[in-house]
Amino acid sequence: MIDLRQFHGGVHVAGHKELSSEVAITPAPIPPRLILPLLQHIGEPSEPIVTVGEKVLKGQFVAHCRAQDCSLLMSAPVHASTSGTVIAIESRSVPHPSGLTATCIVIETDGQDQWIERSPMLDYAEKQPTEVRAHIARAGIVGLGGAGFPAHMKLRSQGIDTLIINGAECEPYITCDDRLMREYPQDIIAGAQILMHILGGAQRCIIAVEDNKPEAYQALLAATQAHIEIVQVPTLYPTGGERQLIKILTNKEISKNNLPASIGIIVHNIETSRAIYRAVTHGQPLLSRVLTVTGQGVKNPKNLEVLLGTPIHDLLEYCGVKPTTERLIMGGAMMGFTLPNDDMPVIKTTNCLIAASAEECVFPTEAMPCIRCGACAEVCPVNLLPQQLYWYTVAKDFDKAQDYNLFDCIDCGCCAYVCPSHIPLVSYYRYAKAEIRAHGKEQQKAELARKRHEFRSFRLERDKAERALRHQQRKGEHKESIIKAVMAQAKEKIMEQNK
Ligand code: SF4
Ligand code: SF4
Repeated sequence: MIDLRQFHGGVHVAGHKELSSEVAITPAPIPPRLILPLLQHIGEPSEPIVTVGEKVLKGQFVAHCRAQDCSLLMSAPVHASTSGTVIAIESRSVPHPSGLTATCIVIETDGQDQWIERSPMLDYAEKQPTEVRAHIARAGIVGLGGAGFPAHMKLRSQGIDTLIINGAECEPYITCDDRLMREYPQDIIAGAQILMHILGGAQRCIIAVEDNKPEAYQALLAATQAHIEIVQVPTLYPTGGERQLIKILTNKEISKNNLPASIGIIVHNIETSRAIYRAVTHGQPLLSRVLTVTGQGVKNPKNLEVLLGTPIHDLLEYCGVKPTTERLIMGGAMMGFTLPNDDMPVIKTTNCLIAASAEECVFPTEAMPCIRCGACAEVCPVNLLPQQLYWYTVAKDFDKAQDYNLFDCIDCGCCAYVCPSHIPLVSYYRYAKAEIRAHGKEQQKAELARKRHEFRSFRLERDKAERALRHQQRKGEHKESIIKAVMAQAKEKIMEQNK
């Protein structure tokens, strides 16, 4: 029995989950084209290993990590989600808050859905954890809760005693994890067992489910195995945040700049656990994911198993978009971001698409001055002082904002949600973080240029000194040979005189 604790702050938000929570997961149709970005995760992009015109099979590598052994790199390979022909490798719009484009492999699908030969690892329990981890790395699995952290990198951590599987789907509108827990509890449990094998010393696994998902809780309870506890946690946003969930379940807090592994814990999402099960037991790389298409702008909200690379407009068409749609959001209503258009693909981190009507959109046009009420600080789950961060960000005093732990902010939006002045606080923090990172990159570039210049000057000086030394040596050798010649001549002369 776990003694549940509470993290600081948090808010009760309108869930809007009823739009899709009773709709079972169904597969989305194979689209005519797939757009596969080389970077769908945190870390280094992968590199294409196919060429335009090449035929590919479902599950075939189309882009690989820079090193042969993916398991050593913060990167993840990309596979063809179905069979077809590569028709382009080019820059395309991708779903990212930056709005930037990225290199993508475009595949014209053939409708055959023809698999490459699969290589499951059915005897994983007899294999070394490093081998199973490498298998997961080759399957291209990343954190499917939205963060996209390569799963194999988390599994490199040593000294882990607790594995947490995060089923606290606290963001409004999203229901895909709820449906996965209800419909595939055995797969999730089997994935957790594989994870425990890899982690070796992990004695304990907790699967956390919010108490507003009783069916999911019951389904997992019925499927669970030894050493795996199913725990209901209170429904409060952002319970699904990694640090908040750890606090609730273990009462432990992670010090600044550290990861959960530093206190012997790692957290994986529900769908990541299922993806690991499918990779190990069925030899199936990460080719699809379950996501929720919802919002009042959609005629038929759904939970769909979607091939990675499926264009978003194809999905919206499939679910029926109403002309009243005002905004398209990727992710949840609290932490998601607005997409500029629907001409971009579903990627590994796409857990939800919200076609929002005008009533569902919060327009940031009526912000009023801060009245220093302190409501934002009361709800901040990280115990920050959001109003101070706001003041320093507005004043562009980014050093001070960092002193007030700007980078600990998890962009959860609780502060903006309760702000009576309707100040879009998170937008200010995101702006400040982007500015600081850009400035940091500039500084890194300048530092690199300075080091290069210093090295070049050093090399020129060293070459000059070596040349001077060689010249001196040659001069010395020349002098020596003259002396030797003169001595020889003198010797010859003396010998002639003595004849
Ligand atoms: S909640 Fe809004 S008005 Fe109140 S202190 Fe925070 S930023 Fe200011
Ligand atoms: S967005 Fe940042 S500052 Fe605001 S409540 Fe969340 S963690 Fe705190």
